[in-house]
Formats: sequence, structure tokens, C-alpha cells
Amino acid sequence: MSDEFDRIARLRARFNDGAGPGVLLGIGDDAAVLAASGDNLVLSVDTSVQGVHFERAFAPLPVIAARAFSAALSDLAAMAALPRAALCSLIMPAQLTEAEFDAVIEGLADASARYACPIVGGNLSAGRELSITTSVVGLVEGCGLQRSGARLGDRVCVTGSLGGAALGLQLLQRSAAGRAPGWAERWQNPQARIAEAQALRGIATAAIDVSDGALQDLGHLCEASGLGAELFAEALPLEPGFRELARELGLDPLALALHGGEDYELLYTVPRDAPSIGPGTCIGRMTPAAGAPSVLGADGRPLPLAGGGFKHFPG
Ligand SMILES: [Mg+2]
Repeated sequence: MSDEFDRIARLRARFNDGAGPGVLLGIGDDAAVLAASGDNLVLSVDTSVQGVHFERAFAPLPVIAARAFSAALSDLAAMAALPRAALCSLIMPAQLTEAEFDAVIEGLADASARYACPIVGGNLSAGRELSITTSVVGLVEGCGLQRSGARLGDRVCVTGSLGGAALGLQLLQRSAAGRAPGWAERWQNPQARIAEAQALRGIATAAIDVSDGALQDLGHLCEASGLGAELFAEALPLEPGFRELARELGLDPLALALHGGEDYELLYTVPRDAPSIGPGTCIGRMTPAAGAPSVLGADGRPLPLAGGGFKHFPG
């Protein structure tokens, strides 16, 4: 990549040299330096790979890049941490043009500004497919919101709605996004629930973000907490028109809401007698029976469900 230094110069300019609150040394040395504080550091990393997590046809490059950034920050939200800084490692195919490179960093810069999370460094490399790896650093009091804190009888809640991203992805995979405008965007533009997570401090007992599918992610929370859970099918927050469009596409709306991934909402638990359940909707409760969560129908009986969480396409 003969123009690597030129690309780094553009990155530095677009990312404002990594400047931000608490950034002592941003982009330009061998590593960045952040000021330490009384809070604890939270670290996570997430990768978005062309052909595995996205296809170029699914969204313009700035959207793909911003989406990768949001997905990484969603893990900080799930800990109730505040974003502090990010490192972005890009693997780029040789045929990626300068304009396309600029489009990628444009999306990253926009997301970085939106979350007030400066990009303080990273790495550029050539490879066969476009790949965006985002390492994030956040701050939290104590150990934040963990998966293991749920207690028997806690209510299970979720922010936003479920299944929208999976429905949008179905449309994109069928090249039919124009058929039902708005849904593709649910997949393209997830929002890391940073502010919602802050509102859960002192309320929630446990949390996880919905990346693999609500049922599977709730299963992780159950396992970590040594409990089971029941979800009420009728209580699942679905957007208007969701059921109708899912059925039109030959999909089961309930399965899509339970197994569809990449909503990046927060699934969390609150004590049964808590005065507030925070910004989400109550969708179930924690039960003694450890194991996979069950889903109850309107009559209170468990629904037969095909297993499996979200699988990244193609298979
Ligand atoms: Mg997560």
C-alpha cells in the first residue's frame, strides 16, 4: 500500500488527531495515552468483516463503518460504561479506492463524534476483504453492570424493540429494502444504548446487549446468574407493521423477535419490587430453573420454539 502514509495523514486529520477529554496523547506516537481517573477501565473489541457480518450492497461505506463502531460501543453500554476512546484497525482490499477509504473513515469519524468517543489510534493493513476492528475503552464505577447479577423473581426488561434489525437484514439479503422503507435502516444504523445504560445504574441487577438474538443473549445472562427465565410472548416490544411484514416475507414474527440478532438493545433485569424498571419494557421474569429460557404464550403455557440464535450469513 504505497499510499499508506497519505491515508494515515487523512485519518489523523479526520479524527482530529484523537483529541478528546482526558486524551493526553492521541494519534501520532507508537501508542495513545489517556489520563487515569478514579473510575475503572472497561475494554472490549469487535470486528465487522465483509462477507461475514456485512455485504457492500447492504449499505454505503460510511454506514457500514459507523455500524461497526456502534456494535463495538454496544458492549460498553451493556456494562453501563461511558465510552472514553477507541482504536480502529482496518483491513482493506487492494482495489479499495481513495474515495472509498475516505468514505470508511467518514463513517467512523461521524460515529466517533456522535458518541463523544475519540479515535486515538489504530492500524492499516491490506487484506482480501474489508474488515473493521474497533477496540473500545470505557470508564465505569466498580465493575459496572454484569451478566451475573440477576436474582430470582427479577423482571426481565429490554430497551427499544426486537427483531427489527433481523427483518431489515432479510430485506437487504433479498435486495428488497425499497419494498418496505425504514426497515433496512434498523439493521444499518443501530444505536449503542449508552444513555439508557446510564439510566439503569442503581436500578438494574444485570445486563447484556442483544447481538446474537434476545433468547440466546438472555440465555447467557441466565447462565451467568445461575437462573432460568420466562419470557411473555405477548409482551415483546415489536414495532408497528413488524408482524405483517415478517409474515409477508414468509417469516415467523415471534421467531424473528426472539432469535433475530444485531438489535443492539439492552436486555436487563430489575428487582420485582423496584419503583422503576428504567427505559425499557418488561418482557419476562427470572425463574429458579437454570437452563435455556422458555417463552410463554397468552395462556401462560410454554410455546414450542425452534432453537438457535442468530447465525451470521451466509450460513
Ligand atoms: Mg455483548
